[in-house]
Amino acid sequence: MSARLSWDEYYMGIARAVAVRSSCRRRQVGAIIVVNRAIIATGYNGTPVGVPNCDEGGCARCAGDAAVGAAYDLCLCVHAEQNAVALAARHGSSTDGGWLHCTLRPCFSCVKEIVQAGIRGVVYQDPFPYPLELEDQFDRLVRAARLELRRLSGDEDCPVCGPSCTGWPHRGARNLPPSEG
Ligand SMILES: [Zn+2]
Ligand SMILES: [Zn+2]
Ligand SMILES: [Zn+2]
Repeated sequence: MSARLSWDEYYMGIARAVAVRSSCRRRQVGAIIVVNRAIIATGYNGTPVGVPNCDEGGCARCAGDAAVGAAYDLCLCVHAEQNAVALAARHGSSTDGGWLHCTLRPCFSCVKEIVQAGIRGVVYQDPFPYPLELEDQFDRLVRAARLELRRLSGDEDCPVCGPSCTGWPHRGARNLPPSEG
């Protein structure tokens, strides 16, 4: 019999189930906000309420061929993390001191909003690495805001830091040959 799921694994399983609701044609992402072990909000990425769904042509950027991470300003899709924070606001649930569990590493904008919502930490699963200069800025933001950011340990742990890595590839990874970083 397999070991009982950890809390992190349990919440990630739920975030993965939430992601399946996404109609974004680029990527399905799910996020949940947990306060005192209770899930107070869920979110998946997609166009705002009232705008046609991403897979129905609602977002020109997602329908185009923009590179990963590029042309975000033109994307109408609300990220899963933003949707979870907005849903909590809509329903008057405090996010203060909570944790966000997300299937993908949050982007810069989402980290800023997560911090501003009083969320203490983030556990994510899939990596979303930035080029190294941006990775430095990302790292600086996370540290300055004292956000606890960690990746749920998986098959692809950071080769330098292991599962405790705050980002992947982590700054330590720059010492590796490019093929491994
Ligand atoms: Zn989309
Ligand atoms: Zn989009
Ligand atoms: Zn984001």
